[in-house]
Amino acid sequence: MNAAGVAVLIAALVAGTAPGGQRTGARSSPSVRASVDTQVDVRILSKHRPVRLRLDGPRSLEVVASASTLVVDGRSQPQALRLDSGRWRVRGRGLDRRYEAALSLEARDGELIVVATFALEDYIAAVTASETEVDTPFEALRAQAITARSYVLASGKRHDEARACDLTHCQVLRGEGFARHLLRARDAARSTEGIVLRLPGGAIALAPFHASCGGHTADPVAVFGAPDLSGAAAVPDRCPASPWRAVVPRALVTAAASDATGGPARAEDLLLDRDSSGAIVRVVDRASGRMARGDAFFRALGARAGWDRIRSARFSLTLGGDQALLEGQGHGHGVGLCQAGAALLARQGWTAEQLLAHYFPRALPGKLHDK
Ligand SMILES: [Zn+2]
Ligand SMILES: [Zn+2]
Repeated sequence: MNAAGVAVLIAALVAGTAPGGQRTGARSSPSVRASVDTQVDVRILSKHRPVRLRLDGPRSLEVVASASTLVVDGRSQPQALRLDSGRWRVRGRGLDRRYEAALSLEARDGELIVVATFALEDYIAAVTASETEVDTPFEALRAQAITARSYVLASGKRHDEARACDLTHCQVLRGEGFARHLLRARDAARSTEGIVLRLPGGAIALAPFHASCGGHTADPVAVFGAPDLSGAAAVPDRCPASPWRAVVPRALVTAAASDATGGPARAEDLLLDRDSSGAIVRVVDRASGRMARGDAFFRALGARAGWDRIRSARFSLTLGGDQALLEGQGHGHGVGLCQAGAALLARQGWTAEQLLAHYFPRALPGKLHDK
């Protein structure tokens, strides 16, 4: 566990390319859900805080948020604008996206709130394309599609305006058009249509994924808490170590530890517990006795230092002077499907089913509408 506040570790939750927080609200039974799970509504473009958008598709129009009034082609519109499903090109400042979806727009405080409603399998194809590299082998794309489908169906509604967002908090959806990679992702979605991972009790697994585990996936309960909803388990993996390092101010570690533990905490007083994979699962401030889950500490560090710098919860922490050195492995929270490992194993001939059995040993693939 730990000596005097010098070398430290963490296991937890990252943004990376991984779906975010795992704990979500109540889940209804699969049979009740089936009828409503043919569409997915997604809050899109929130990161860009769009004020003015040009839309081209089944029709062409310009939409502006004027305070909380929506202005469409120069005319105020009292309610939300709803646009039929089609292939829409959405352009704005620094933005050029394409979505095959129905769109809904409203204005709020000078910002356009845009929700895209996708047919489930169109959403799965778009997420699979957005979340993978262009050279990802087909069987790894199929495993990704089943994982993404399970995750979105199990996660319930995660946002006020929509079930999901288009960021790493939920699943990345870039709206990149109909390029070749999207066509392969579409084939992967189609060839696994309606297949989800199920937990032993029959519930759809809240199946997470991440860019790279760094050689060993993380324990879902240690990272996300009990009971396990993911069907994953900590397993050795053959992906590259994906080493990373970051130097941050010592004060930033202190601030992140204070955020996570809910009170003043100092970098030099931290005791870090990790699991067998090397991930930090618990942080204790020895001065106050306050503690936090590893993922809370990891998130706090990422929020303050940048997600691109703090890439995983598997890292050592060395304090020296005003600085702290973090040296880690992997990218993402490390739970469930490892995208780097899946691509590598698929190149060696593993099928999607074998990949899923490896990363989700507590879940079994089955049809969405079995029950
Ligand atoms: Zn989200
Ligand atoms: Zn891995």
